[in-house]
Amino acid sequence: MDNNPIDGIDPFGLFHLIPSSTGAPQDGANGVVSNGNGGLSVSFGQNPTGESQIVLNSIAIHELNHIKDAYNQNSAIANDTPAGMILAPDTFSEQLNTEIDALNAQLTYLRQAAADPNISCYDKQRAQAEISFAANLLVIAYNRYDAATPEQLVGAPQRIW
Ligand SMILES: [Zn+2]
Repeated sequence: MDNNPIDGIDPFGLFHLIPSSTGAPQDGANGVVSNGNGGLSVSFGQNPTGESQIVLNSIAIHELNHIKDAYNQNSAIANDTPAGMILAPDTFSEQLNTEIDALNAQLTYLRQAAADPNISCYDKQRAQAEISFAANLLVIAYNRYDAATPEQLVGAPQRIW
């Protein structure tokens, strides 16, 4: 991403990078960090040992969707940036939109994977549990969007769940 021009001010939001004392998202969460090479990378948090690869893949798809959204808003976001800065949205609206997109992408993958007759019982159980979890988060995000005032939507990101 080093060759991308600086976009300047984007009135629709730009995402931004925030410092982290650990170089990773807080509390063992999955997230997105600058990789020190001008780009963004998925940062896996503390997922359970032995977690289904399908669930881990779905987390990667979720986080890669945030990277796509951030690049779409600001292709130069991680230029000349040290590794380990955390990707964050600028506004509540930007935050809700990127979470809704990421959850939908994750759910599409999980539903396809769970329908594969060749996966193990364990993978199927874990995929179905993750579908319930992600679908619940999606409902919460939509409800937060509906309940938000215009002022809140253009204001700071909030704790969604
Ligand atoms: Zn997310």
